[in-house]
Amino acid sequence: MAVEKIKVANPIVEMDGDEMTRVIWKSIKEKLIFPFLELDIKYFDLGLPNRDATDDRVTVESAEATLKYNVAIKCATITPDIEVLVVVSVTEVCNERVVQESMPLTASDVFISFDLTDEGRVKEFNLKQMWRSPNGTIRNILNGEAALLFWYGLQGTNYLQKCSKACWTRPICIGRHAFGDQYRASEEVIRGAGTLKLVFVPEGQGDKTEIEVFRFKDPGGVAMSMYNTDESIRAFAESSMSTAFQKKWPLYLSTKNTILKKYDGRFKDIFQEVYETNWKAKFEAIGIWYEHRLIDDMVAYAVKSEGGYVWACKNYDGDVQSDFLAQGFGSLGLMTSVLVCPDGRSIEAEAAHGTVTRHFRVHQKGGETSTNSIASIFAWTRGLAHRANLDNNPKLLDFTSKLEAACVGTVESGKMTKDLALLVYGPKVKRSQYRNTEEFIDAVAAELRARLAVRAKM
Ligand code: NAP
Ligand code: MG
Repeated sequence: MAVEKIKVANPIVEMDGDEMTRVIWKSIKEKLIFPFLELDIKYFDLGLPNRDATDDRVTVESAEATLKYNVAIKCATITPDIEVLVVVSVTEVCNERVVQESMPLTASDVFISFDLTDEGRVKEFNLKQMWRSPNGTIRNILNGEAALLFWYGLQGTNYLQKCSKACWTRPICIGRHAFGDQYRASEEVIRGAGTLKLVFVPEGQGDKTEIEVFRFKDPGGVAMSMYNTDESIRAFAESSMSTAFQKKWPLYLSTKNTILKKYDGRFKDIFQEVYETNWKAKFEAIGIWYEHRLIDDMVAYAVKSEGGYVWACKNYDGDVQSDFLAQGFGSLGLMTSVLVCPDGRSIEAEAAHGTVTRHFRVHQKGGETSTNSIASIFAWTRGLAHRANLDNNPKLLDFTSKLEAACVGTVESGKMTKDLALLVYGPKVKRSQYRNTEEFIDAVAAELRARLAVRAKM
């Protein structure tokens, strides 16, 4: 059946990637996107060979294009370097060059690979140098200042429920404030006795403020200072509320304001102010709410809840809780992240997993793979849904929700990839109980066509 293609008025930026995810990416476009949409794609090949050939200029250009066109959809890419989080903890095993070339710890830490053999990529691809993490580069250009990461987990009531390690029957979206706090902290090892102070020197007029933090005795200890800005917290509040409103889910902000009365108290106050000024009436009209919760209570609630809410987390909490969420949902193949720029207009959507190298090695040798494409498909739907909202294109929005529903529906009807089948049937899963990579995408395509046909008939 020929389907009339939906016109997408404005372009999207496509960032192609590496290995198994690049293979999946091509199929997603051919089977789930191009047959249904008339799309103007600004294509950037962020595959490692092309990053090397362009001296990584392609990464910079793709990020600049994102600021211009507002929507980027990114395939997973190989990170051929070793980043600071690793370096900090394993300095002994890293050579100096790696330490010097490492980027400072930024929002991109959520994508840090602990794979110390990545230096092998330089040899594998005969690279000119160990290029920096594309996610780090992109984030710096998209302005890390108030960047937000939203992590979407997926949940259902049938097979998806069986995959889950928690009792969630609905999705949960974590919003991570990806600016400041521990990730921009100044820290120091204190040697010897002495007094630690926190000093603020105002620009222009006014007295400096000085707080005595601690009097160290010999042999000293450790100290840290961290900060955030009202502007960034406010942008975080606005984005969280707008996401909750769009999804029609309640919103929770978690902090430790009982201990950090001023620091976390500021987050709580700004959220409350933004809520009452801009969102309360809108939330109440559709029967949702915003609440602040103590992080301890929120974690306990998250474990026993059935899902169906947006959880706004401070930077460090979001880093930790997004991993908790990913594990809880069963497979990394079910999790997508969306980076929202401070302007709220530009976003970059991608799967939360990497390039699935182990599967790619099997694929290269002509073997059969069963790689879950759901998170990559959701990178497309999340990106296109944002395009639809910006362009006021209800047909496109409807298409994205049907494609997401088709993914859930396919799994819920018992057709799934091996990562999920392992969770449902256990380690002795039989070949007949799962689909291979292409069979799964074909099943989603069939489900999508059926769902679009229902609409066409009405
Ligand atoms: P990975 O690609 O996320 O894969 C780790 C393991 O998780 C896989 O071997 C597989 O387990 C499972 N897995 C992940 N995604 C899956 C999916 N869609 N379907 C089924 N199973 C899935 O992490 P990695 O192997 O550590 O990293 C590979 C490359 O990706 C590295 O070069 C790294 O730098 C890069 N990376 C990129 C990003 C990004 O672009 N955002 C993020 C992370 C890593 P089994 O082997 O047990 O089947
Ligand atoms: Mg983490």
